[in-house]
Amino acid sequence: MVAGYAARQLAELGLRPGELTIVSADTSIPYERPPLSKSFLAGKDSEESIRINPDDFYREHGFDVRLRTEVAAVSPGARCLDLHTGEPIGFEKLIIATGARPRRLEVPGSGLDGIYYLRTLDDATRIRQHAGTAKRAAVIGGGFIGMEVASVLAQRGVETNMILREDRIWKQFFSPEMSGFFEAYYTARSVRFTKAASIAEVRGSGAVSTIVLAGGQTIPCDMLVAGIGVVPVTEPLAHSGIELNNGVLVNEFLETSRPGIYAAGDVANYQDVLFGKRRRVEHWDNAVSQGQHCARALMGEAAPFRHVPYFFSDVFDLSYEFWGDPVGAEQVVHRGDMASSSFSVWWIRGQRVVAAFAMKRPEEERDLAPKWIEARQRVSARKLADASHPIEDAPEIATSV
Ligand code: NAP
Repeated sequence: MVAGYAARQLAELGLRPGELTIVSADTSIPYERPPLSKSFLAGKDSEESIRINPDDFYREHGFDVRLRTEVAAVSPGARCLDLHTGEPIGFEKLIIATGARPRRLEVPGSGLDGIYYLRTLDDATRIRQHAGTAKRAAVIGGGFIGMEVASVLAQRGVETNMILREDRIWKQFFSPEMSGFFEAYYTARSVRFTKAASIAEVRGSGAVSTIVLAGGQTIPCDMLVAGIGVVPVTEPLAHSGIELNNGVLVNEFLETSRPGIYAAGDVANYQDVLFGKRRRVEHWDNAVSQGQHCARALMGEAAPFRHVPYFFSDVFDLSYEFWGDPVGAEQVVHRGDMASSSFSVWWIRGQRVVAAFAMKRPEEERDLAPKWIEARQRVSARKLADASHPIEDAPEIATSV
């Protein structure tokens, strides 16, 4: 995704034919990833419809796209990439956008057929095909992939069981009220939950047929999708001298420890100037905005990357959005009506808004969320919680907060 958006930005800024090479291990030209676990998986989008730029964009601009091509090593001093084939590719400037790879199950039987991880278009195509015939699916993990894939499988009529390590869905991120809401929503749409579960083994002859939990409980399934997080891909940089630590370390300009070499997207561990801390963000919006930012940096613009982290998700007939960083919040305020799926959630630290979630909420709540987070807006939690008053009233600070 970084490459697709950087290429478009570079074209807009006048990069000339022959001046850009995209090197990708993928089998397809750059595509949007959000539909892979949503509309593409549901069969409502095609390979063509999720492309970031049309097929002929790269040809028309004279940009070389090398697919199925892996980089073995990066030599910043020599300004050279070494491909697995041994072929060198020279560069003046470089954007590292190697992304992340799915963490894999490490239990006996994890090599059986019918076990899937979702990262690429090819992965999503395989899951989509299998879902057409599957009767029972297990989804491991209650994060993004788990929640989105389970919702698509259930809507496709596959009996779906979500197996969670925690005692409630997405405990790391959701408030208890939010977990309760989503669990009830999923349960009403025939998704089952197996909570506080640890997988001991996967059994089957050739293909998965049963999951065995640590306590001995067995769960039958004919397909299994694991969404248990990702690991940033940095192996090609191991001997490059570029500083690595939970991804590629970059400064506020998204530049690595080697001048003229940038990193963007899932792999970039950047200095966030808004929150004053380092972070890696594994979301579409981050890949898009950092890809564009790096493209501008390549063309000579020197500006810090200043951006409120954002993501969205679609599950069943619900769409929600999230801004900011809830880590360290002292208060979580719920606003609206959970019974009608219309609510927002506000994370507050030192009376200031640091993160917000909104689903089916008025436009002004969505507008204010990133603005307040960026401005570190002080709010009254009591007023914010009272949806009978306009949200614009909340910035007044009440003494009782
Ligand atoms: P994720 O959102 O990090 O969630 C991983 C989930 O798996 C967590 O619930 C985690 O539980 C659980 N988990 C971790 N290790 C486990 C294990 N060994 N056994 C059982 N459960 C385990 O990652 P993801 O859902 O796999 O998504 C992969 C990537 O795709 C992420 O980078 C995500 O941001 C991205 N993505 C984003 C979107 C979106 O923005 N809408 C949609 C799809 C995918 P704990 O909380 O206990 O650690």
